[in-house]
Amino acid sequence: MTKIVGLTGGIGSGKTTIAKHFELLGVPIYIADEHARQLMQSKAILEALKQTFGTSIFEAEQLHRPSLAAIVFQNPAKLQQLNAIVHPAVQHHFQHWLLSYTTYPYVIYEAAILFESGNYQNCHSIICVTAPLESRIERVIERDHTTRALVEKRIAAQWTDAQRISKSDFVIENLDLELAKENVEKIHKILMIKQNDL
Ligand code: ATP
Repeated sequence: MTKIVGLTGGIGSGKTTIAKHFELLGVPIYIADEHARQLMQSKAILEALKQTFGTSIFEAEQLHRPSLAAIVFQNPAKLQQLNAIVHPAVQHHFQHWLLSYTTYPYVIYEAAILFESGNYQNCHSIICVTAPLESRIERVIERDHTTRALVEKRIAAQWTDAQRISKSDFVIENLDLELAKENVEKIHKILMIKQNDL
């Protein structure tokens, strides 16, 4: 049976960067946030978003993600409502995606809110990516051309590193990328050996 290995970490920790190194080793990776972004363009989800958050999150009939982000990252109840709309669609899509990889020992399921969504319970093993808070903030400001205040709001809406680490099987510190890649290779070897008894 193909095992599901969850990969998580705070915003800007480098989850996607690390997931891509697993991919280079031949591991199929599912980047939940990317699929969520695509699924949020479907008619059914757009309609549910309109019903829940009103028309202010749309600009010229298109979903305006910054407006939605401004609402949900100010208000935990609204964030929960958003997750309740998007999360089931991602899970459904992931289960379908998984059918293409049944011959692989394991796949990586990468998600920022793996714990917060409760989805970690579907994983056979969990990897947590960490990086110092200040590096994470700087990386996201540079990558997304956003403000420190908005990044800090998103961080406040997520679990802390200590919470994530306490529920993870492996931790990859992603400060020096070369060291992090070495760790990816070590963990990959362990997962390949242990795949029968994960
Ligand atoms: P998010 O939670 O926002 O999806 P993420 O955890 O997936 O973020 P990445 O997108 O992989 O993080 O990385 C964030 C930014 O930091 C990217 O621009 C990436 O190129 C850069 N980055 C990742 N790892 C390192 C590193 N070790 N050193 C310097 N920059 C890095």
